[in-house]
Amino acid sequence: ADLFGPSRKNSAGVELGHAESLEALLAEIAAAVAKPFPEATPIIDGASAGGTARDVRSPIDNHVIGRVAEADATTAARAVAAATAGFPAWNATPARTRAAALRKAADLMEARRGLLLALLQAEAGKTLDDALSEVREAVDFCRYYAAEAEAKLATPTALPGPTGEDNRLILRGRGAFLCIAPWNFPLAIFAGQIVAALVAGNSVVAKPAPQTPLIAAVTVRLLHEAGIPVSALHLVPGDGAVGAALVAHKEVAGVAFTGSTTTARAINRALAAKDSPIVPLIAETGGLNAMIVDATALAEQVADDVVMSAFRSAGQRCSALRLLVVQDDVADKMIEMITGAARELKLGDPRAIDTHIGPVIDAAAKHRLDTHIDAMRKLGRVAWAGQTPALGGTYVAPHVVSLGSVADLTSEHFGPILHVVRWKAGELDRVIHDIEATGYGLTLGVHSRIETTIEQVTSRLSTGNIYVNRNIIGAVVGVQPFGGHGLSGTGPKAGGPHYLMRFATEQTVTINT
Ligand code: GLU
Repeated sequence: ADLFGPSRKNSAGVELGHAESLEALLAEIAAAVAKPFPEATPIIDGASAGGTARDVRSPIDNHVIGRVAEADATTAARAVAAATAGFPAWNATPARTRAAALRKAADLMEARRGLLLALLQAEAGKTLDDALSEVREAVDFCRYYAAEAEAKLATPTALPGPTGEDNRLILRGRGAFLCIAPWNFPLAIFAGQIVAALVAGNSVVAKPAPQTPLIAAVTVRLLHEAGIPVSALHLVPGDGAVGAALVAHKEVAGVAFTGSTTTARAINRALAAKDSPIVPLIAETGGLNAMIVDATALAEQVADDVVMSAFRSAGQRCSALRLLVVQDDVADKMIEMITGAARELKLGDPRAIDTHIGPVIDAAAKHRLDTHIDAMRKLGRVAWAGQTPALGGTYVAPHVVSLGSVADLTSEHFGPILHVVRWKAGELDRVIHDIEATGYGLTLGVHSRIETTIEQVTSRLSTGNIYVNRNIIGAVVGVQPFGGHGLSGTGPKAGGPHYLMRFATEQTVTINT
């Protein structure tokens, strides 16, 4: 199959400027909001299991929007056992049949976009724009991995051998795969990991982030409806302790994780320490993502791209810009233009159509960001601060912070805080070295009109996703496969041609004919 050609297209967007499309969309969302959101529970073999009940609150206004029953270690063990039991039959199902279920899931996601959008807004605080992009990305993951599976997993590869010998390479599922998802893409990354593992023949235990169980439960039910057997996909909502209990389970055949570097390390250690088969970890973690801007860059474009990369989604993307590294000669002008553009952003209730920045995910996240901002203010480093609205939710206004060097940014601050470092002509080498030395390598931007500068930066930095003369967020499935290395993760890249392989195990069969 030609993955980039007419056989597979990414899902179409919605023109929000078009009154009729917008009205239709808002009506679908309103219809979904009019009913209570389905309660989230552990789902084992299709049945709801019990757990510790808790309210789910919206970051928009702290209102209760639903209920979750969180699993304990016993329920987690039951889910792994159920996935282990469900594995052989699903693994024996032809890859084409598995792929067909993913395509059906994509269609259902499009058909139910009202509910998915409503949940992305209420539970994760997303703007309409962000929520729409996320539904599209989830749909794209389903269709992309379906096409990948058909192209690469459906038929064994015949390999050459001497006369009288038939050699075949076969890709199979590994077993019960554990998929641990983040709250920042509670639909796209949650579903992306699961459908990749499933289409490769694995059964799955899915563990959503504690902040976003409602959309996870809706997604799992949707996947079952699309034809994923209930014995092949199980849901375990809960906190980090439940995640740890799942990881520690002997029968887990692999882990796909997106979240913090610290948690990825803990998972890696736990997998290494247990007395069980050696299994893969696919981790996508954080970044200290930089954008290098030189004196030849187009100022207006830089301002747009910086504001979009640093502040869109309230800076709550792994790919978001954390560090603007700008040449001294143009720094004042650039910062003025950036703060000028940032001043125009509307911060507030993300359900209002003209809102650019919604809340951060919860009070703990707001506290961490506010603490960092306060520390920077005490050091006299806050160059610009936006206005935080007096609403009931967890809002953090965009901030611009000046730092002395790249090395001054030592950890990822997951919100709308842009750090700025200046460099002088002749220092590009050192800047490149300092960025590489952070050990992270997720996204990187370059704004320059000098070809040799672009070449120097792109060839010397090993960052996973490099964007030249544009913004650095919003990787598109099958177009910009996404993921980094080093402290930013293990690879392979999500939405790329090597992703499914890591979920599969290889077998060669040699037949003496
Ligand atoms: N794929 C997303 C992007 O390119 C980021 C994913 C993440 O934040 O984990 O913006």
